[in-house]
Amino acid sequence: MAQSAVQPSSATAAEPVKLPVGAIAPWAVFFGILMLVLLYFVGAEQGATAVTSGENVHEWVHDARHLLGFPCH
Ligand SMILES: [Zn+2]
Repeated sequence: MAQSAVQPSSATAAEPVKLPVGAIAPWAVFFGILMLVLLYFVGAEQGATAVTSGENVHEWVHDARHLLGFPCH
């Protein structure tokens, strides 16, 4: 007598989780802008495009600039 080890289930199939896009969107925009500002300071904060005077910001992000392949010196 053959018996199946899997019982047919009357439970519903798993449903995908609905993401609350309305709740996530403001945070995504916030962190996107934050990343763009960080990318600016790493990649373009030098010389004529500098927001701050001096070389402090450039020196703080200098290694990251070379790591990401931005031209430097
Ligand atoms: Zn450099």
